[in-house]
Amino acid sequence: MTIDYSKKINELVEYLNTCRDEYYNHNRSIISDKEYDDLFDKLAELENESGIVLSNSPTQSVGYKVVEGLNKVDHDKPMLSLDKTKSYKDVIKFCDDKDALFMHKMDGLTLCLTYKDGILYRVETRGDGITGEDITHNANSILGIPKTIPNTNTIHIYGEAIITTKDFEYINYKLPESEKFANARNLASGSVRQYDSNICRNRKVRFICWNANELSKDGTMTSGLDEADKLGFITVYRRTRLSLPNWTEEHIKEMFENMKLRADTVNYPIDGIVIMFNNIEYGKSLGRTLHHFRNGIAFKFYDDTYETHLTNIEYSIGKTGTLTPVAIFEPVQIDGATVTRASLSNLSIMKSTLNKPFVGQTIYVSKRNQVIPKVEYCLEGEPIHGEELLFPLVCPYCGASTYVEKDNNGPEILVCTGNNCIGSLLRKFSTFVSKQAMNIDGLSDKTLEKFIKLGWIHKYSDIYTQIPKHSHELSKMEGFGEKSVTAILDSIEKSKTTTLTKLFIALNIENIGKQNAAELEKFFNNDPNNVLKMNIEGPNGIRERLSKVNGFGDIMVDSVCKWRRSANDMTEYMDLINILTFTKKADKVTDKLSGMSFVITGSVNLYKNRNELVSIIESNGGKVQSGVNKDTTYLINNDVNSSSSKNKKAKELGVKIISEEEFNKLLGNETTTKPIKKGLF
Ligand SMILES: [Zn+2]
Repeated sequence: MTIDYSKKINELVEYLNTCRDEYYNHNRSIISDKEYDDLFDKLAELENESGIVLSNSPTQSVGYKVVEGLNKVDHDKPMLSLDKTKSYKDVIKFCDDKDALFMHKMDGLTLCLTYKDGILYRVETRGDGITGEDITHNANSILGIPKTIPNTNTIHIYGEAIITTKDFEYINYKLPESEKFANARNLASGSVRQYDSNICRNRKVRFICWNANELSKDGTMTSGLDEADKLGFITVYRRTRLSLPNWTEEHIKEMFENMKLRADTVNYPIDGIVIMFNNIEYGKSLGRTLHHFRNGIAFKFYDDTYETHLTNIEYSIGKTGTLTPVAIFEPVQIDGATVTRASLSNLSIMKSTLNKPFVGQTIYVSKRNQVIPKVEYCLEGEPIHGEELLFPLVCPYCGASTYVEKDNNGPEILVCTGNNCIGSLLRKFSTFVSKQAMNIDGLSDKTLEKFIKLGWIHKYSDIYTQIPKHSHELSKMEGFGEKSVTAILDSIEKSKTTTLTKLFIALNIENIGKQNAAELEKFFNNDPNNVLKMNIEGPNGIRERLSKVNGFGDIMVDSVCKWRRSANDMTEYMDLINILTFTKKADKVTDKLSGMSFVITGSVNLYKNRNELVSIIESNGGKVQSGVNKDTTYLINNDVNSSSSKNKKAKELGVKIISEEEFNKLLGNETTTKPIKKGLF
């Protein structure tokens, strides 16, 4: 019965506020004074019976508040967003056999309400997820926020501030053409952030609660929302599904279409469906990534587009000499990442998307499926007001002439005519040595280009075999001294201890980025040999199993299979894994060594090499110094009685000398890095 109270009270408050607004601000009486008074009394009576009083109730003496600015507040708990998808397949994969809750994804501004001792204490915006803005002064101007709740714990309620499509149309209808608002989401967002709560009130913002987990009686999200319903909140439209056995993409699609219709009938602006695990503890156990919680995903109906301006078109070169146009534009923030470039695929797509591209052209960019930046379209009919960006007649990498290739009805493709165009090799090695790949310092594109022209590097493994071989020659070359050559060789040597993830990034496997590379490492059980042992096709093959891994769509699975099938790529791969040593990424990082500084001298026995020991120390919060000084905590040396200069210095300064074994004891015998035997089979 209490749910009825909540609904009735929200309806009455909304209606009475509308009447007041029309009367005071537009000089129109929707109802007679008598009717108003009767409804007012009715509301007071309902509030009295149920104990539900909304912050914006006309029965409350609503003193409007004006603040001078919005204070920044740190959230008690981070308000991260969810990973997004546009694929029904991902939804099925995500739910697996767990109970899931499907909710409207409200298109508004996320708010967190905090109640202390049963009283509304604070309302804050999401901001960057860690810090938001305090907008408590506007609580009495937003529908659906109870002033009090019968719960004395500190309670956080999450939801969305929205303006219904109907209210939005009405607000705009009353405004002259030049003052009309562009979209409901921005209006809601701008309204709740107003300094003057009177302005916010006129915008008819309402709070739709989608997370009241702290009110849950049985550990499910549904129970929390049901409780919130009873307390006067307006809760999100939702459906629960007890696992999804045998659900097809068609089923999901149909359910989403129905939910969309439902939103239309109540005029709620939604831009997708949120899917969350109903079991709160299970959801929590999945943890988070840097940007997202893992207990849910958001299915988006559309990719949002962002306006920006073209600054250039660059051409990247592929293995076969294809020159792919890449749009370079003014930075835009999409899903928390700065985006400045997007592939235009080929000349045909470039022309159909941008017509005649020019510097300063207004373009609209999205992240397709939240992953791949894409120029969606340009501003129609914009006069050309910058330098036109024509495709190059000579290859920007080798200077050979280019030509446009076109097969029958296929797209127009720009190709470099140079034999062995240096561009493709340069790209190959540039990725290989990059920071997130093999992380080799001192090999700039310019240096790599020199090595390629000298014929020193062609295969990846040449980095490890050919460069050291030519080190003497190199130190005599212009721009290189002995010192810089030593630094390069050191860096090459250091890169030999790496992770499988880094190698997968380094290998230029098409469509495989950092995130996928990390998944691949797990997929191959962190054993480089498994790549070769596993079949490609068949029931237990790479294709079948990889397609079940989160984040791997058909295109990526295809890329991995194609790479695995290529004899050339596999030869290169085998050469490399015979040279490299793989460590598992430290999966447990502690601060056990924090505040301690170490110096390592002599040979190491328990660890693969010094680099590995260094990474263990650093991942546990310690520092590594090159020489012993007064700040040194320990000198690690297996020969405690050695008469080396470092040992002498340590003894002089009273720095304790420990063996590797003693070092392990410092860590509580915990080895966070497991060396893996190198070599094949
Ligand atoms: Zn070329």
